Amino acid sequence: MEVSDAIQIAAYGMPVGEPDTPIVELGMGTMDTENKATILMIGHNVAPGVELVDYIREKGLDDKLDIGAICCTAHDLTRYYDGAKIIGSFSRQLTVIRSGLADVVMVDEQCVVTQTYDEAKKVGAPYITTNAKVMAGLPDRTGDPVDEIVDDLVSGKLDGVLILNPTKAGAVAAETAVKIKPIRNAKSGVPDEKGSIVMAMRCNGCGNCQRNCPNDLPLVEAVGLAKDGDFTLLSSLFDECLACGRCEADCMKDVSPLTLIMHASREYIKTERYKCRSGRGPILDTEIRNVGAPIVLGEIPGIIALIGCSNYAHSIRELYTMAEEFLIRNYIVCVSGCAAMDIGLITDDEGKTLYERFPGDFDRGGLVNVGSCVANAWITGAAIKVANIFARRPLRGNFEEIADYILNRLGAVGVAWGAYSQKAASIASMANGLGIPAVIGPHGAEYRRMYLSRSDDEETWKVFNARDGSEGHLVGPGPEHLLTPAESIEQAICLVAKLAIRPADNSKGRMIKLSHWVDLERKYKGVKFPNDLEKFIRLEADIPISMKTEIQEFLKEKGWEPKEIVDPTLLKRMCRTA
Ligand code: SF4
Ligand code: SF4
Repeated sequence: MEVSDAIQIAAYGMPVGEPDTPIVELGMGTMDTENKATILMIGHNVAPGVELVDYIREKGLDDKLDIGAICCTAHDLTRYYDGAKIIGSFSRQLTVIRSGLADVVMVDEQCVVTQTYDEAKKVGAPYITTNAKVMAGLPDRTGDPVDEIVDDLVSGKLDGVLILNPTKAGAVAAETAVKIKPIRNAKSGVPDEKGSIVMAMRCNGCGNCQRNCPNDLPLVEAVGLAKDGDFTLLSSLFDECLACGRCEADCMKDVSPLTLIMHASREYIKTERYKCRSGRGPILDTEIRNVGAPIVLGEIPGIIALIGCSNYAHSIRELYTMAEEFLIRNYIVCVSGCAAMDIGLITDDEGKTLYERFPGDFDRGGLVNVGSCVANAWITGAAIKVANIFARRPLRGNFEEIADYILNRLGAVGVAWGAYSQKAASIASMANGLGIPAVIGPHGAEYRRMYLSRSDDEETWKVFNARDGSEGHLVGPGPEHLLTPAESIEQAICLVAKLAIRPADNSKGRMIKLSHWVDLERKYKGVKFPNDLEKFIRLEADIPISMKTEIQEFLKEKGWEPKEIVDPTLLKRMCRTA
């Protein structure tokens, strides 16, 4: 991943660790469908998009064309051209195309929903594939002249083409969009009010759609109400609908609850306009030098990396809540991919997104959007840099010593919230290999658990003291597990705060981390204390001052005994006397 991002940074002049990257437009309503032809890009390989931007600039087509993108191509496109729009996350694909917001759809690779070709056909939007991994069975026109391909697409002779040359694909997309716009005339696959009622009238209430819906949305009731022209329940489902299409796929009456949700939410879809900070790429060594010591000592309570693909069980607001909760507590929050977009879709009382409220620095209370999924490597890279810069752990071929350092000292936690793909799960498990725990949810059970501990088995939580090489020092259980699913945002938030606790925290750092953890458990679970709090208190000096008396009483009940604070390592050879 790091190599991929480094190559595109070098090739396309994308930002290299700039905290103040531009604030760009985000949302399904950001493309100017009234006055310009629109091109929607989807995927993870920005090369055709970059060529498209270059073609628009070269031909002076800026006032005729608007470009928006979905998924990681969107981040990468705005890292190259801040006039591009981030339309949204993976889950927006069917909604945007079916609503008729794109005159041309151009896809590259990875997270491209397979129905997008059929969706584009239905609304008369030519479909251009540009990569051997997603070809949709389309004719390969790579060797043909641009004009011929454009003519075939605009005339309707072909509804889609494969063009493996990114430069040619960009030129064809631009020319086709300008010509097809007046022909398409914003054709939508979503019926008007009358058509939607007629569709709803076909419903016999069998319930297949609801049984198929991954979020068990009340579709039978909502479609039933629409028969009488009441779309309010359908409209309220928009935020929790993943636009996966499973409801319509199993309807024997040719009703699409998804389409009806889109009709009910048409005004929101057209006007969804928010802000996102463009991806900044790597974390700089100079930033690491500023924050390394407070992170290692626990005084910056943690680095929380939010990744994920929008496969939520409830509202997008949940992810926003998690990001905001840790930002206001001065954790460093890093984001990438679809998660970075979705947290921008909520604003505070003053109408500001998190990107407008928190700086992009890798520092306490910073909201760091590194960019697309491949840019995740910069987040784990920051953890590696701390080990390298502060402990001089050599970088080459040295996973073991670096992971030992991170696991014991660095309060970094990954959160794959709404993971769809195995890639998201593999990013999380890759972080585990570096000693970084990860939480996966809310549909996370399918990714199983890995590297679970027995917190009651003290023998497994004993380490060497690197200061003198002595062994058998009890430091656990932190971090308790490395890959853990959470089924609710409340559970995830509390788990993340707990997993940020590390054996090497000094007492001041541990006090700060414990006070956040206890506070979050109280807020989200309604408990007085976490039931294993005593295991994370080594000395009286670790106890948060504001809760001192009540925690002392709690510890007395638990029969707590103080423990020493050591310089922990799992590697004997890292001990000074070894
Ligand atoms: S599957 Fe179709 S017919 Fe059955 S309840 Fe859903 S919309 Fe109605
Ligand atoms: S498209 Fe929405 S309503 Fe339909 S099955 Fe998927 S999540 Fe449920």
